[in-house]
Amino acid sequence: MEALVLERVGQLSLRDIPVYENLGEYDVRIALHTVGVCGSDVHYYQHGRIGQFIVREPMILGHEASGRVIEIGSSVTTLKVGDRVCMEPGIPDPNSKATRLGIYNLDPAVRFWATPPIHGVLRPTVVHPEAFTFKLPDTVSFAEGAMVEPLAVGMHAANKAQIKPGDVAVVMGAGPIGMVTALAALAGGCSQVIMTDVQQPKLDLAASLGPILPVNVANEKLVDVVAKVTDGWGVDIVFEASGNAKAAASVFEVLSPAGRVVYVGMPGEPIAYDVVAAQVKEARIEHVFRYAHVYPKALALMGSGRLNVRPLITDTFPFKDSITAFTFASKMPPSSVKVQIALANF
Ligand code: ZN
Repeated sequence: MEALVLERVGQLSLRDIPVYENLGEYDVRIALHTVGVCGSDVHYYQHGRIGQFIVREPMILGHEASGRVIEIGSSVTTLKVGDRVCMEPGIPDPNSKATRLGIYNLDPAVRFWATPPIHGVLRPTVVHPEAFTFKLPDTVSFAEGAMVEPLAVGMHAANKAQIKPGDVAVVMGAGPIGMVTALAALAGGCSQVIMTDVQQPKLDLAASLGPILPVNVANEKLVDVVAKVTDGWGVDIVFEASGNAKAAASVFEVLSPAGRVVYVGMPGEPIAYDVVAAQVKEARIEHVFRYAHVYPKALALMGSGRLNVRPLITDTFPFKDSITAFTFASKMPPSSVKVQIALANF
């Protein structure tokens, strides 16, 4: 099938590649409609590896996907041919200890699309387990359906923060993950989000999404803004979604006593933080890795109109221009947030 293949570092091609997939009893076959370009896809393209995951053989990219069911296995009960769906890209071993504990995102055996050596879905069709395939509400488009994957990260972060109604949160970083984290935090009960970045167009977009106060840290100090908004007390929650080492180390400066910190962004290098600064506030520190069990609630929030990801989809390319989409995403203009590739127009 024709797919977007990462041949090796810095080299993409749109070409035929053999993919052998059997439709199992509990599987569905899906025709892909929209696939989002993720920071991790771009990272594999530019560097060929993320941590222990190294691209050693040609690999199809893409894991943020929606599509339509075109075939179902003999024991599938919740989906039928024609259903519009989005898919959770990580399939754990159903019998692993992590899965049995309900923390299947941490299963060392998880097979995650476009994480070597598993192929991604920038291709016409894919076979996927029914259990990891979710029907889109009628009001949710395929483009929005492909946003559920990044949104799930923000939802998981909001869950980890144990938000209470009225909490004030800082979200560091106005990239796609920062944006969806802010939306999830507001949907989870935060009264206000204070969002930082150095790219003004992204902050302007963030400010249009809800009660989000943008802070351009290139010319404003976050500590000053937080002191003003919270009468010097600090925010209840800090979500670190920039992956920037300096930002990640500074989270305690703006945190309230007994506040929560959630590390969402992945710094390129190990970072150091001030343990005593965290201790004197009895900060609770959480980390997220992908997500588990949040797709249905993310879809429910989108379907009810409570959470809107549409403004985040800034650039869409047709499948034939996939390579252009990746060159574009490699040097993302400040006004762009999420790049998507449209494979079909059914
Ligand atoms: Zn992603």
